[in-house]
Amino acid sequence: MKIRSLLEKKGYEVVTVPPSLPVLDAMRLLVAHNIGSVIVEDDNRVQGILTERDILRQAARNPEALSRLRVEEIMTRDVVVGVPGDTLAYVMEIMTRNRIRHLPVVEDGWLVGIVSIGDVVDALRTDVEAENRYLRDYIQGKFD
Ligand code: AMP
Repeated sequence: MKIRSLLEKKGYEVVTVPPSLPVLDAMRLLVAHNIGSVIVEDDNRVQGILTERDILRQAARNPEALSRLRVEEIMTRDVVVGVPGDTLAYVMEIMTRNRIRHLPVVEDGWLVGIVSIGDVVDALRTDVEAENRYLRDYIQGKFD
């Protein structure tokens, strides 16, 4: 399966924030949407990614500073992205190798979706279940 099909099922919504947004407001967005990351955009261009891990790291380092910081001060700027034609196996590999759980998807330079490790595991599980069902039916002779 490819990212394209996963997005067709899951949807294309991506929660984005501007670089100047206070970190506390970004935290509230993560909680309100029940998500683990926001994409940082300026002029419709991806500038970075902020995940709960970035906030946790900052909180462990200097909790008092959290209320003063803006997203751009703790986001990751070097964003790893995927494209709709990438396979789930490839995405899994990229996520594991880079130790990331979120992959923004871009097409022609535009953000078209986001895939989390949870989405990938869920899609792979569905694939395996379908294959199992097919094999069971095959063994039971339903294709004779
Ligand atoms: P995560 O496991 O996704 O919460 O992210 C762990 C760390 O990797 C955090 O510092 C994130 O900002 C960073 N990160 C997450 N996703 C990406 C990505 N697609 N590209 C670059 N860095 C990322």
